[in-house]
Amino acid sequence: MLTFELIEKHGDHEEIVYCHDRDCGLKAIIAVHNTTLGPALGGTRMWPYQSEEDALVDVLRLSKGMTYKASAAGLNLGGGKAVIIGDPKKHKSEALFRTFGAYVNSLNGKYITAEDVGTTVHDMAYIFMETPYVTGIPVSFGGSGDPSPFTAHGVLMGIKASVKDKLQTDSLKGLRVAVQGLGSVGSHLVEYLVKEGSTVTVADIDKEKVTHICDKFNVTSVDADKVVTSDCDVFAPCAMGAVINDQTISKLKCKIVAGGANNQLAEHRHGDALMELGILYAPDYVINSGGLMNVFVELEGYSRERAFEKTMQVYDNLLQVFSISRSEGVATHRAADTLAEKRIKSIANLRQHHHGRMARPFSTLKEMTTRQK
Ligand code: NAD
Repeated sequence: MLTFELIEKHGDHEEIVYCHDRDCGLKAIIAVHNTTLGPALGGTRMWPYQSEEDALVDVLRLSKGMTYKASAAGLNLGGGKAVIIGDPKKHKSEALFRTFGAYVNSLNGKYITAEDVGTTVHDMAYIFMETPYVTGIPVSFGGSGDPSPFTAHGVLMGIKASVKDKLQTDSLKGLRVAVQGLGSVGSHLVEYLVKEGSTVTVADIDKEKVTHICDKFNVTSVDADKVVTSDCDVFAPCAMGAVINDQTISKLKCKIVAGGANNQLAEHRHGDALMELGILYAPDYVINSGGLMNVFVELEGYSRERAFEKTMQVYDNLLQVFSISRSEGVATHRAADTLAEKRIKSIANLRQHHHGRMARPFSTLKEMTTRQK
């Protein structure tokens, strides 16, 4: 497919920037999907894409996803993303990230970057040498560091909202939760759930992690290939995507699916199938937005307390999604899209009718970041 055909096919993006530098070998694409709500924030992924077309499709898709995530989270952020074509194990250098940083800077705050697959906090520190429009920088530079405790806290709030909606209770005490994946997010989630008095079962393909978490929190484990279909109240996917698929869906024994993993539904239709089965699904991009809330607080001048407080918003956001799902008779993943789209539309209208009277017109949004260089 030709470049413009691909761009047209994958949504209404505002701006797409190709970044190239022969000397340091930089080949990157920045996609700004929508800035109605604020500057487009989204991570930079470094990946050895098979083709430039693959890289473009990925950045178009991911940047659009960020628009929905930020909107449903109630943040004044738009959606954007960047991809660097290259092998993160072989092609990283100071010059590459600083050159990329200069490209980010040339957008004057319309796009703000962060870590993603294949990039680290150290790479962000190089980008920060060329632009203030980067988040997830080291704590020593005024950054917010590891977002996973905040993502996990948002997931806990999401489980509370789901339990309130489905089981009509405010307490997680005695609730049987199966956590799949004991990485950064899953391990923090187990800690929070144990504090709430839940009965937690864990699973991971890494046996050492399982032993460590079971010993530390006195919880039980189940085989990694059995956790999805284990008998529980809440199944919390915190590992890889597409865990709700044709093979697993008819075997689920949970009442609620609520976890931190991205892209939990193999396909959209699996969300509809969950609804038909009477299983409440907390849409992934709504329940796992705590990490994004954390970097948003970094833009305002970071405070760990404020970031934790902000993640509590996930509770209300999900209740809103469940309410739309009920009133419109659609599955929750579709209700989440409706919530996100409605907010963007209403703010766009407000812009149109009250232009010039906005508290924070886009042109001044770059002042949002207190880390001006
Ligand atoms: P991580 O790499 O630290 O942990 C993932 C864990 O899942 C690992 O321990 C891995 O061994 C385990 N795992 C992989 N396949 C498994 C399987 N089949 N069964 C059981 N365990 C398996 O990743 P993370 O940062 O904790 O992120 C977890 C998920 O949450 C990912 O989908 C990620 O995209 C999403 N997410 C993370 C954040 C964040 O703040 N880190 C924010 C939003 C979304």
